[in-house]
Amino acid sequence: MTTDPSLSTFLSQARELLGDRAVLTDAEGFAPYANDWRQKFFGKPAAVVFASSTEQVAQLVRLANTHEVALVPQGGNTGLSGGATPDDTGRQVILNLSRMTRIRARDQDNKTITVDAGVTMQTVQEEADKMGLTFPLNLTARGTATIGGNLSTNAGGTAVLRYGNARALCLGVEVVTADGQIWDGLRGLRKDNTGYDLRDLFVGAEGTLGIITGAVMALHPKPAGVMTALACLPDPVPAKAAAQAVALLQIAQQHCNASLTGFEFMTPSSMNPVSDYYPQFARPAGLGTPEQSCVLLEVSHAESEQAATALLERVLEVAMEQDLVVDALVAQSMQQAQAFWDLREHITMAAAEDGLQVKFDIALPISSIAEFCRITEDKLRQAYPGIRLSNFGHLGDGNLHFNVAAPAELFEGLDRQGRHDACRQYVKANEDCIRRIIHDEVVARQGSISAEHGLGILRRDEAAHYKSSVEMDLMRRIKQALDPKNILNPNKVLRTNP
Ligand SMILES: Cc1cc2nc3c(=O)[nH]c(=O)nc-3n(C[C@H](O)[C@H](O)[C@H](O)COP(=O)(O)OP(=O)(O)OC[C@H]3O[C@@H](n4cnc5c(N)ncnc54)[C@H](O)[C@@H]3O)c2cc1C
Repeated sequence: MTTDPSLSTFLSQARELLGDRAVLTDAEGFAPYANDWRQKFFGKPAAVVFASSTEQVAQLVRLANTHEVALVPQGGNTGLSGGATPDDTGRQVILNLSRMTRIRARDQDNKTITVDAGVTMQTVQEEADKMGLTFPLNLTARGTATIGGNLSTNAGGTAVLRYGNARALCLGVEVVTADGQIWDGLRGLRKDNTGYDLRDLFVGAEGTLGIITGAVMALHPKPAGVMTALACLPDPVPAKAAAQAVALLQIAQQHCNASLTGFEFMTPSSMNPVSDYYPQFARPAGLGTPEQSCVLLEVSHAESEQAATALLERVLEVAMEQDLVVDALVAQSMQQAQAFWDLREHITMAAAEDGLQVKFDIALPISSIAEFCRITEDKLRQAYPGIRLSNFGHLGDGNLHFNVAAPAELFEGLDRQGRHDACRQYVKANEDCIRRIIHDEVVARQGSISAEHGLGILRRDEAAHYKSSVEMDLMRRIKQALDPKNILNPNKVLRTNP
């Protein structure tokens, strides 16, 4: 129980507004909300409050203003940058929107769906499917991640190559501003040049400028045929395999153009933990050698499955003629296609089972990927002998998760807890220097240190280190203008408290 009188008053008024069951104050009850998915950030909230409507969110924000209580917006709490985790002061309150689950409107001809912010990505996918359409935003945490969280992180995932990220799929938003007003920007328009684009200010703001309570999301026609292949690249050196993957991407784009809907790169050290912890989703036996990297390709065609297959087979044939692919499997059934995606999608979960890593979410111009991988891998292996480089990701978008795991010899013979402790210590001791090596190489090539996960707390200071003073100043002025009392997610994205 808090001894802070303004916080106590806020909490009792929140109880009156939402009911007792929507205000959790016991540490055990709020454990699943207080820490981040990877268990890297551990928060100490004063409470977790659950809003069920936009009006409730607005009233809560007004209360927070009156009592100067900081709110940390939260959806599914699957974010990977600590943005939804409160600090450890015991004064911040998590405002969870996962109970806002209304589908507000479906518009078949406009190909849009209007939803509450707490609706999960998977529910929107299922609703689109019922309308005979597709909602192409897709990532492994789809069953839990919410549309509000997707928009606030400007999530990417596996279909950005063809359909763009969350921002590209968002036509309108409803937002509760930091002073508790409701802005209804739920317009289902693909063109709207009526002044500053406020929608795009809130998308990707990670809950620091306003609370997204509803959204109009764009849907797309369902392709008639979707074909998937797993291709094995010849070179056992991961950096050289990355260069081969870039060359394969050129061939795939040349032959498929917009029909190329997925292009995912996976090195062996990213796939091996899947075999260890989720053997049912392991790389297919006999596809190349265990030292070789793979690319998952997906081709979608508006006309037919045969047309998609023909495109995919042609790509693989040309790539094999050019010695860029040594072996490949084209999925013969939906189950097999799903098995290929299961392998890709379990990489993050298997890595979490294996132990904490230094995580990266970088974007590079595609033309720089090969050189970046070669130089950065050399530098890292020289500075940190034995490290395991788990490089994988949405290479078709220029987005790599260039993660660094502790040397295996550090935890040989230890049980699970011992391994996790050893990895955590390794990350704590080395992450700053590893980050500097990798991010310097990224920024030297005009890349980004956060492609799709956002800055949160994890990359906040890194962004400030690399951004110009002009860019930082503009960001601070926007925050100051929209949230002058620093009520919304303080200290995320930008340092706002001393
Ligand atoms: C296994 C796994 C795989 C993943 N793969 C991908 C991937 O491929 N691509 C990708 O981009 N991400 C990926 N993620 C990260 C994560 O799923 C996304 O960032 C997702 O968009 C977060 O949604 P959420 O509802 O869980 O948001 P949360 O984690 O609850 O919050 C994320 C941020 O948004 C803010 N926020 C949440 N809801 C609101 C709201 N309504 N209004 C204002 N601010 C809000 C929070 O304060 C926080 O800063 C993955 C995560 C996991 C666990």
